[in-house]
Amino acid sequence: MSAPLRIAVVAGNGIGPEITAATQRVLEATGLSFDWVPVAVGDEAVALHGHPLPQESVRRLHEIGVVLKGPLIVEKLKGRIICRHADGTEHVYPSLNNALRRELRLFVNPRPLRGMGTLSSRWADLDIVIMREVTEDVYAGLERTVDEDRSEAIKLTTRSAALRVARYSFEFARKNGRRRVTCAHKANVLGLTDGLFLNCCREVAAEFPDIVFDDCMIDATAYALVKTPQRFDVIVTSNQYGDILSDLGAGLVGSLGLAPGANIGEAGAMFEASHGAAPDIAGKGIANPIALILSGALLLRHVGAVRQAEIVETAVRATVIDGKTLTPDLGGRATTEALTGEICARVRSTT
Ligand code: NAD
Repeated sequence: MSAPLRIAVVAGNGIGPEITAATQRVLEATGLSFDWVPVAVGDEAVALHGHPLPQESVRRLHEIGVVLKGPLIVEKLKGRIICRHADGTEHVYPSLNNALRRELRLFVNPRPLRGMGTLSSRWADLDIVIMREVTEDVYAGLERTVDEDRSEAIKLTTRSAALRVARYSFEFARKNGRRRVTCAHKANVLGLTDGLFLNCCREVAAEFPDIVFDDCMIDATAYALVKTPQRFDVIVTSNQYGDILSDLGAGLVGSLGLAPGANIGEAGAMFEASHGAAPDIAGKGIANPIALILSGALLLRHVGAVRQAEIVETAVRATVIDGKTLTPDLGGRATTEALTGEICARVRSTT
């Protein structure tokens, strides 16, 4: 028998604990064995250590290297946090989620958008991936009040980060049989920042003659995503544009509850849904766990359990297409528990 897979678990808040437990159940239904290691982040960490992202938790997450994460609530206007490191340096982050990604040195957030039968209406066959850079741009945390009349934020773009996300996107396209990478930007207005991002994508594109490269203005990208999304394959873009486009894309395929995500770094990876903590439905037992379950399938692929990942993805797809056990966001009346049970049963029947 092989050793259990050691996975760090950040259960999150709002619907986080419900959908995280559901995901753990589905992954266990594949027959793989797991050593789940809960790590305190957010309210739980504040209660235990007086900080939402204590360095002890960061160390633990680094050491384990693979993280399953539920969404974390970030209160409006109160998100900013400061992390102090053992060497005396400190870093200010605009939100807890941003801090977690950056303290773990994760640099790209791939967000696959796949149609799911009639739920996705016209876009049942859609299959695109948004590659969102997650270390800089206007989410770098460089924001300040100048005086009572004026505030400003810096849109940080560096050559190294843009080259890194571009190279990851092209390598991903090549490895996964995808044919096109599109850079979404606003280089006609932001010539120095988005211009640098676009030029870095062009530079990397020259190393991948087998992949078609093109670019599209961010506003035109939003329009095309709604009107002709099949024109895209892999979209590489900066932090804020990627944040916005991926929710737009989730709406396109039917629900935020269907949109998985990963955060990848040189030495670790964290898997989380694209959606947030949905406080409006937390504790009601009706949250859709599918986005996190599909993020769990991405986790399985990441650790090399490709067959089990495919089994989970097929079970989710079959459950959604069958349509009898769906949560309210998908037009059904099922509970999180019932939907999870249905997916687990389908996974077990194919393992
Ligand atoms: P949200 O994604 O939580 O919710 C938007 C809408 O979609 C709500 O109506 C919600 O009920 C619904 N929804 C989302 N996920 C669902 C699911 N799995 N099943 C059924 N319905 C679902 O966005 P929000 O309301 O803007 O944010 C709520 C909180 O989550 C905020 O504190 C925000 O900062 C946080 N957030 C966290 C993350 C993260 O942890 N990565 C991402 C986005 C937002």
